[in-house]
Amino acid sequence: MTSFHDFGLAEPITRALAAENYITPTPIQAQTIPLAMSGRDVIGIAQTGTGKTAAFALPILERILAKRVRPERKGCRVLVLSPTRELSGQIADSFRTYGKNIRPLAITLAIGGVPINRQIRDMSHGVEVLVATPGRLLDLVDQRAVRLDKVEVLVLDEADRMLDMGFIHDIKKVVAMLPKERQTLFFSATMPQEITRLADQMLQNPARVAVTPQASTVDRVDQRIIHIDKAAKPALLAEILKTEKIDRVLVFTRTKHGADKVVRGLLKSGFKADAIHGNKSQNYRERSLAAFRDGSVRTLVATDIAARGIDVDGVSHVINYDLPNIPESYVHRIGRTARAGAEGIAISFCDHEEAAYLRDIERLIRQTIPSTDRRTGQRPASQPAAHGKGNGNGNGNGKGNGKGNGRGEGRGNGRNGHNGHGKNQRNNGRRDNNQHRDQRGNRPAQLASTQPIKPQGHAQGHAPVAAHNNAKGEPAGLETVTFMREPRRQAGHRAPR
Ligand code: AMP
Repeated sequence: MTSFHDFGLAEPITRALAAENYITPTPIQAQTIPLAMSGRDVIGIAQTGTGKTAAFALPILERILAKRVRPERKGCRVLVLSPTRELSGQIADSFRTYGKNIRPLAITLAIGGVPINRQIRDMSHGVEVLVATPGRLLDLVDQRAVRLDKVEVLVLDEADRMLDMGFIHDIKKVVAMLPKERQTLFFSATMPQEITRLADQMLQNPARVAVTPQASTVDRVDQRIIHIDKAAKPALLAEILKTEKIDRVLVFTRTKHGADKVVRGLLKSGFKADAIHGNKSQNYRERSLAAFRDGSVRTLVATDIAARGIDVDGVSHVINYDLPNIPESYVHRIGRTARAGAEGIAISFCDHEEAAYLRDIERLIRQTIPSTDRRTGQRPASQPAAHGKGNGNGNGNGKGNGKGNGRGEGRGNGRNGHNGHGKNQRNNGRRDNNQHRDQRGNRPAQLASTQPIKPQGHAQGHAPVAAHNNAKGEPAGLETVTFMREPRRQAGHRAPR
């Protein structure tokens, strides 16, 4: 499959894809879409970042278009279950984007952390697509605001993460309420035994598709973290641009304002640089990209949203000037380098306030990123959470006696998925991951891990940041730092844009 037209998708869908600049299906899309369009159950082994959302959303939209029936009151034709608020929101957005030429098309998001009343109202007339986290969905069912007896398609996304987060019992409850005659599309990054068993119970004669996990892109990128005081970030960026052997570098900031500020600083220091983000006109963005592509501007500063459309080979470096607050964005960002089988370098600045983001990222990618500490401030070094996994790679000289105080580790939701909290917990909304957020909206540290997490205690294989490189907290030059690499896995597919 070299084009979306080859699938025989309806014109309103292909038009929406063209508007998004999707030209070539990703491997998971090429494999899944024809199977799902034929009505089969599918087990897809793929991670976020592989294009799996479109892999299930497009055949579902095709089905909705092919059979236009009014959804039942309080019912949904398609139910998508996902473990987190962010992922659920992204999935609903994707359905809206790909389905923007289909009318009417009602898509509702049912997640915790927000008032339930609006969701009850939204569901009252029924919807085509309901995207939900399991806890909130069961709350809605308990309140008789949602009925599930007319679901035609069930999507279970990130099944292994559901297991880690203790949602497996909720999922079984939901599945028991669904019609037996339905299509089930089941996605998981990994297939531990318990997930295989769950799939066996839920799917009928499924086709199995797998793509090299996105992690292989992560593995191909030489990743480094530099702990740095916020105020020292501009100087560090200038230093890296001077000392690293860079062909093309994408610098990421969290905000548009931040991107402009970085560019102003670089211009002042004598570097040629440009910013692309949502406030720039389409013309400006195209000109900037062309200059980046032809090499006349070596440094492009971008926000996450703007970066989606960037497809430039030969990006040797990605610099995360700010760490993203959504861990999946980290994977998307660093995937801009190491494209088409190339290798790349990703350097991320992490200031004191971003330590929690780093923890979430490391849990998502299941790696400890080699780091060095260049903070000069007197503030005590923030310590990374106690990774239950303790993969022991990376930080080299850490003594491993870090206190690893890992905030909020007490929930102890191990592999078996059941965390011992019963219905009450769901009823007060705590089953949704979203509810456990600190003020910056961070996911709790333990939720994305694949291993049981020790409630407090010693950081295994994960020394305190301060010990990584210079125990005295003196600034260390880049050149003095030895970054250790992760063992490589087989190179995978080209990362989707
Ligand atoms: P996902 O794995 O579904 O989260 O997708 C990762 C990213 O790839 C999202 O930003 C999508 O918009 C983008 N994407 C998905 N499929 C394609 C495609 N065929 N071509 C270009 N970009 C895509």
